[in-house]
Amino acid sequence: EHADRAKLIEAHELAGKLYEYLLHNTEQGKEAKQYLHARGMTDKLIEAFGIGYAPSRWDTLTNLLDKKQFPLPLVEQGGLISAKQDGSGYVDKFRDRVMFPIRDWKGHIIAFGGRAMGDVQPKYLNSPESMLFHKSRTLYNLHAARPQIRKSQELVLFEGYMDVIRAWEAGVHIGVATMGTALTPEHAEAIRRLAERVVVAYDGDNAGQSAAYKSIPLLENAGCNVRIAMLPNGLDPDEYISAHGSERFVREVIETAVPSIKYKLFYYRKNYKLQEDGEKLRYIQQALRLIAGLTSPIEREHYVRELCSEFHLTFESAMQNLNEIRLQAEKKD
Ligand code: ATP
Ligand code: MN
Ligand code: MN
Ligand code: MN
Repeated sequence: EHADRAKLIEAHELAGKLYEYLLHNTEQGKEAKQYLHARGMTDKLIEAFGIGYAPSRWDTLTNLLDKKQFPLPLVEQGGLISAKQDGSGYVDKFRDRVMFPIRDWKGHIIAFGGRAMGDVQPKYLNSPESMLFHKSRTLYNLHAARPQIRKSQELVLFEGYMDVIRAWEAGVHIGVATMGTALTPEHAEAIRRLAERVVVAYDGDNAGQSAAYKSIPLLENAGCNVRIAMLPNGLDPDEYISAHGSERFVREVIETAVPSIKYKLFYYRKNYKLQEDGEKLRYIQQALRLIAGLTSPIEREHYVRELCSEFHLTFESAMQNLNEIRLQAEKKD
């Protein structure tokens, strides 16, 4: 078991070296590099993240592993190669893709994410679960970001590889990402062990906003202080940096992330037509229910005051309402 793990890591490290070599030294790789450059990636960044290219042939990696006498059935379990239907051997799993190595916290390559360059589906092909790679635990880039996360007690959570990498270039060296899977309680626990504060910087589209909303209780239950970065116009962090630059990204997205309660209020608000009295009153009730859930009395007062000033309510009536909500909640417990 231990020997198998070590062998499989060795195969991944070798694959990573091969993919890097092919990106930098072949004609096909040149196109992949142009794709990366067009997406705003410098050579320095490509190197720092060990990005490579898996060629379109079916046998490039398989032949190398075979020549070096790796046990191919083991490598197949790790997801680098696939068994042929007729059982006559193996073929490369990743073909004609830009390859992002995924490392464990010690820095060993345990999986890959492969990005297709055209409109090929799926857009990303990720390694399957294996004895090395547990998606519900792994955070992309944790290895590199770990020292700075511990030091600052802060972590920024992204959706995608490109977001982490572009943010790194922008000076955000505390960024990690889940890989196409939703955040799990295991992720949240791992995050809490490293940092007190988390900024969730998911995509600005509906899917990203709803994923951000769902991440809040997971992170808060693990004991994290959570803020949400809001990306405008459905942009993701990578697209925002391309459109507005690094400085604005740090200043106007990361540094202006809002406390989770603010995000929840904003999130619910979109569902109400606030020009109509009935809807407005229903929103106020919903907002008070959210505020009632805050444990700190000072925070409750603060957000009730904000709500009152916006909707021209007296503080006394709003607090009375809030206290009724809290009483009812207590009765239920
Ligand atoms: P890009 O900028 O390269 O288009 P993205 O990160 O913006 O990629 P999203 O569609 O926002 O892509 O998806 C977020 C993340 O979810 C990706 O980085 C990837 O890890 C994962 N993902 C996306 N599509 C797939 C897919 N078809 N299969 C597996 N994982 C995927
Ligand atoms: Mn998305
Ligand atoms: Mn995205
Ligand atoms: Mn993107």
